[in-house]
Amino acid sequence: MAFEGLADRLKGSIQKIRGKGKVNEADVKEMMREVRLALLEADVNFKVVKTFVKRVSERAVGQEVMQSLTPGQQVIKVVKEELTELMGGEQSQIAVAKKPPTVIMMVGLQGAGKTTTAGKLASLLRKKHNRKPLLVAADIYRPAAIKQLETIGMQLNLPVFSMGDQVSPVEIAKEGIAKAKEEHHDYVLIDTAGRLHVDEALMDELKQIKELSSPDEIFLVVDAMTGQDAVNVAQNFDEAIGVTGVVLTKLDGDTRGGAALSIRAVTEKPIKFVGMGEKMDALEAFHPERMASRILGMGDMLSLIEKAQTNVDEEKAKEMEKKLRTASFTLDDFLEQLGQVKQMGPLDELIKMIPGANKMKGIDNIKVDDKQLEHVEAIIKSMTMKEKEQPEIINASRRKRIARGSGRTIQEVNRLLKQFEEMKKMMKQMTNSQQKGKNRGGGF
Ligand code: GDP
Repeated sequence: MAFEGLADRLKGSIQKIRGKGKVNEADVKEMMREVRLALLEADVNFKVVKTFVKRVSERAVGQEVMQSLTPGQQVIKVVKEELTELMGGEQSQIAVAKKPPTVIMMVGLQGAGKTTTAGKLASLLRKKHNRKPLLVAADIYRPAAIKQLETIGMQLNLPVFSMGDQVSPVEIAKEGIAKAKEEHHDYVLIDTAGRLHVDEALMDELKQIKELSSPDEIFLVVDAMTGQDAVNVAQNFDEAIGVTGVVLTKLDGDTRGGAALSIRAVTEKPIKFVGMGEKMDALEAFHPERMASRILGMGDMLSLIEKAQTNVDEEKAKEMEKKLRTASFTLDDFLEQLGQVKQMGPLDELIKMIPGANKMKGIDNIKVDDKQLEHVEAIIKSMTMKEKEQPEIINASRRKRIARGSGRTIQEVNRLLKQFEEMKKMMKQMTNSQQKGKNRGGGF
């Protein structure tokens, strides 16, 4: 996960000051020296570091901190607020056209993740905001870029407009927008060509597309792993064509985080989204405050909750709740729930979003084995319909058959059945006490 080194270093300096009843200027100075080093080591732009340290230091030795009852905590609050500010303060929303469709141009260097992000963003717009996007394949230079977008479209069941690679990208963009109007799409995402380096021909072409399609947004996709290069690329693109927002990809890798922390301050362009993996649902809206929390090891509960909300079908959730209440929850339902948890992403990543998880000793060594979920899945799938509905009929010979069918051991089958029984018991207790609460007129 990104920011690990930075988070560790900051955690160290924060812990020293956290519990102090009194904080003097020397303490602040000492802490800021460590913060400065931590940021530089994380590859944050040195000018950005300088300004950041100055701002925090001034506030930290000011009255709001020194006269408070918990100065240690206050200093940390200041650091968090300034980190948030550094990354843009508020979350930045997508600008919407007065008259649909909203046109978004995706630009960036080759390999930054432009095509993938176009697909992810279209999918997010549809899933979370109930929109009807059209993807336009205007990268005619990179071999197979058009095919790649078409494959992504097929995979996500999203329409892709393409005209092959013999038509100019400007023409493709124009026709794509016309088609979107005709078919009442409310978003058009144009995947433009990238190059290995910023060059004039590329910028000229992008300028032409921009002039013709009057985009509401020009999203620059940059690879967070490239650190300061990402910041330079952003500056170049912005000077040449004027970007309106940045998407930082590959933040799931072990990037030191410098790009995320410098790009906004240097270019003054907001980070709109972050790519957190290769899968098509691994794109998140960027929330500066939550990211600051994550960096400072304070967890990111809100993103976790949001993840759950996007991935859980509300109707289904209600249905499940009803089943739980009436104790008619079967192993099949259990299997479905597991599927939803799996969709949220790798479990060890989810654990790290829990507040305080960062401070837990050995958290980095916890490897939650996603395979275990698969084993459970395999076991349940080897049961007959009747067994899933009435697990009490699963006797020794049935257990043996299920184990063989799923390629797991009998012990594993036993364990799963026991856990399921216990879970049901617990749910019963919970619903009973909830019911009592309701009868008392209380409730939770
Ligand atoms: P383009 O040349 O800019 O269109 O780049 P692509 O969309 O083809 O992406 C290049 C590579 O980066 C592909 O292998 C993607 O799967 C990968 N990629 C894109 N975004 C992310 C991300 O957020 N995390 C990770 N781990 N890989 C990503």
